[in-house]
Amino acid sequence: MNFFKKINAVAIDGPAGSGKSTVSRLVAERLGYTYIDTGATYRALTLKVMRKNVDLSDRKAIIELSGDLDLVLTPSEKEGRTINVILDGVDVSEEIRRMEVTVNVKHVCKIPEVRKNMVDLQRKMASEANGAVMEGRDTGTVVLPGAKYKFYVDAAFDERVERRFAEMRAKGVPVPKSEIEDDLKQRDHTDKTREVGPLKKADDAVLIDTTDLTIDQVVAKIVELVSRKG
Ligand code: C5P
Repeated sequence: MNFFKKINAVAIDGPAGSGKSTVSRLVAERLGYTYIDTGATYRALTLKVMRKNVDLSDRKAIIELSGDLDLVLTPSEKEGRTINVILDGVDVSEEIRRMEVTVNVKHVCKIPEVRKNMVDLQRKMASEANGAVMEGRDTGTVVLPGAKYKFYVDAAFDERVERRFAEMRAKGVPVPKSEIEDDLKQRDHTDKTREVGPLKKADDAVLIDTTDLTIDQVVAKIVELVSRKG
């Protein structure tokens, strides 16, 4: 498949805590498309690296693992979970959201060869779907530059902190607000300054500031724009 040609996909990018996972999942449901969370693919690889006790500075070993990842994503019906992540046949949906994984992803996702392998995997997932909603940091710029519909969702920093705080508390894993602030600051920096596949709004993406919008309002806006464009 030529990923630069117009393909039936919705690419939704934005920083951590912008609400894009929940929004993307709901948009996929409304359109009858497959939801693909690219962040989950980097998280699953990071978990695998940690489980195998591979040193996070061992690029060669990490690249090798990234080229042969047994990973399946399926939509989740579970409250508070957007996607089921099956790694080597085992459900790791909860583990990949743990703080240790979140903190370590940056060592893995900055390696260009790893990104190339993960982009191949993500494109394979999109080509197998009959319409895809793909979410991440570089889906509109790198993974699916030919996606017919592109959105960049963002929100004020304090609002993103509040959302992440509420999300963690609802999951029963309370994390101090200061820790969430530090994590988001650090992730914004590494996401935006990464040499390969940085977080960036595609020139042809529609910017949506979700600071004062509810999830339902953002979903309705995206679905309306997709339907209008046809
Ligand atoms: O979106 P989520 O927070 O689950 O992503 C986990 C990590 O994976 C992020 O910190 C981000 O740096 C990285 N990521 C990436 N490229 C993507 C999606 C996520 O580097 N397309």
